[in-house]
Amino acid sequence: MAKPKVAICWLGACGGCDEAVVDINEVLLRVADAVDLILWPVALDFKYDSVKDMKDGEIVLSVVNGNVRNSEQEEIAKLLREKSQLVLGFGACACLGGTPGLANLTTKEDIFNWVYRDAPTVVNPKGNYPQTSSRVNGKELTLPEFYDHVYALNDIIDVDYYLPGCPPPPYSVMYAVSAVLENKLPPKGSTLAPHRALCDTCKRNKSKPDRLAIKEIKRIHEVEAAPDTCFLAQGIICLGPATRDGCGESCIDINIPCRGCFGPVEGVADSGAKFVSALASILDAQSEEDIARIVDQIIDPVGYLYRFSLPVSILRKRRG
Ligand code: SF4
Ligand code: SF4
Repeated sequence: MAKPKVAICWLGACGGCDEAVVDINEVLLRVADAVDLILWPVALDFKYDSVKDMKDGEIVLSVVNGNVRNSEQEEIAKLLREKSQLVLGFGACACLGGTPGLANLTTKEDIFNWVYRDAPTVVNPKGNYPQTSSRVNGKELTLPEFYDHVYALNDIIDVDYYLPGCPPPPYSVMYAVSAVLENKLPPKGSTLAPHRALCDTCKRNKSKPDRLAIKEIKRIHEVEAAPDTCFLAQGIICLGPATRDGCGESCIDINIPCRGCFGPVEGVADSGAKFVSALASILDAQSEEDIARIVDQIIDPVGYLYRFSLPVSILRKRRG
């Protein structure tokens, strides 16, 4: 019997999500045995043209990591959508836009000016900027168009399933792979992670006092955080109340608060707004000035609250 064809592909990604696939260790060998890998640019030398030659829907599953920032990434995303029965958005960048999505706070022009003109290490005496088309020795050279925004995958194509995380932990990768291979998938559109919030399973939850009350907000490097106590109870921002469980608490375990890479909990559209509402309920402030003083202690609030999810948030991008 023919094995199911599977593609693994990266778009605007750092490579960590591809490493996460390798992190399933020897299980990867079993997966490789069970499927026919037809594309994995980071590891195998297949050509996009051979994907173009396939019939629509011939690929059973495309695992796509990374966001969409340029025209080549958009073209590949659309090609895989056309040729695949299922598309799995893999990792925070694909599902939510990811950390590169914070670039939506600036513009393409500002980015190009910094990278090709203003950064202290730049040597560019002719002031050359990348062009989508240029002639060199009589030949046309082309580059993908760099977009003004970073897009999550489902801004560009229909996505069937989502596996969040930066990157997704190995056991959730294995869960997703076996759900596909054994045809035990939840309804289309599901996120393959628990519905509850991280706080619901966090080992530090029991250390929370009956009523949390924060008078000061501290940054993690400014204090020596107690290793077993809830970060919020210590006045340190932790996005656990607004973030989906499923990461395995690897940050919490090394005494780093949650930064939200699993995205919003089920039914919540915007994890940053959800956290603001949770924070408002625990501020120990007697006046508006008091509230402003405490909130001002959050340095870079957008970077804190939307580190992984700005492109899918209600803010989406800087205006004007
Ligand atoms: S989700 Fe994280 S690990 Fe994956 S590509 Fe984006 S930044 Fe890299
Ligand atoms: S706020 Fe953070 S440390 Fe506290 S219980 Fe939730 S996830 Fe754990």
